[in-house]
Amino acid sequence: SIMPATLSAISNSARRGILFKGGVHLENLGHVKAVALDKTGTLTNGKPRVTDFHVKAGLDKNEVAAIAGAIEKESTHPLAEAITAYGSDYSRNVQFEIEDMRTESGNGVRATVNGDLWKIGKPKYVGSEESAAFNDGIAEKLQSQGKTVVIAKRNDEIVALFALQDTVRTDTVQAIKTLKKQGIKTYMLTGDNEMTARAIAEETGVDGYIAECLPDDKVNYLKDLRKKYGHIAMIGDGINDAPALATANVGIAMGEGTDIALETADVVLMKNELSKIPDAMSLSTRMNRIVK
Ligand code: ADP
Ligand code: MG
Repeated sequence: SIMPATLSAISNSARRGILFKGGVHLENLGHVKAVALDKTGTLTNGKPRVTDFHVKAGLDKNEVAAIAGAIEKESTHPLAEAITAYGSDYSRNVQFEIEDMRTESGNGVRATVNGDLWKIGKPKYVGSEESAAFNDGIAEKLQSQGKTVVIAKRNDEIVALFALQDTVRTDTVQAIKTLKKQGIKTYMLTGDNEMTARAIAEETGVDGYIAECLPDDKVNYLKDLRKKYGHIAMIGDGINDAPALATANVGIAMGEGTDIALETADVVLMKNELSKIPDAMSLSTRMNRIVK
């Protein structure tokens, strides 16, 4: 049965926007020595916007943007939503026939348009070397600014490059700083590429990061962290994060995250406020001292 002190701590933290799904999670959080955080939607707002759009010389910019936006409608990824919104500004008077739309999880989307095969996604998915050659090193430059580069390929030809910028949450840097003061290590996990990941890691101040993670990689990396630190927490928001949330000793979901993340998590941050994490940590540590 649950101790009165635990019960009151749970209801107090609920009032402050931290929802513990049971006393055991409060206790576990007090033992945590390292925290892994997803990038998109957790450290960042998860609402990227298209900042750059380059089309291969000689092609119709309108048409390429409209087609890319239409193909991305197939996907619910935040990057896809941004490209669809961007493309809709271009789509007037552009006509095409689109079929066989498919999302490739962790990579991008593909479809057949007017009989041509289109692939839109990360450089590794459409062809890294060709992507790197597109427009003379522009991809690297954009990535080093923390932007995510998405490439569009039609059959064997790279036709466009999009760069998307997401913003770090206003309370992220302070939350990471406070965790550091509490002696807790922080690691960022992301499916995004190495250069973009490094730029965001530096901006947020995390102790380390792993880029180009597929969902299984996130789980394996968390297992390594568990071996190293004993007790770890994972904070995430996406469908892709659910297995990692289940692997950590304490899984924490952002309140505006996907249903599956909210269901899998042990703790929910009701207002997406990362600054609540250090609060929850000190509360748990204090509780563990009292309840002993
Ligand atoms: P994350 O959300 O952590 O970046 P994902 O595994 O969802 O990780 O995606 C990894 C990468 O694959 C993204 O950073 C992006 O480059 C690419 N990607 C995934 N889905 C799409 C999409 N629908 N359109 C374009 N690129 C995508
Ligand atoms: Mg995410």
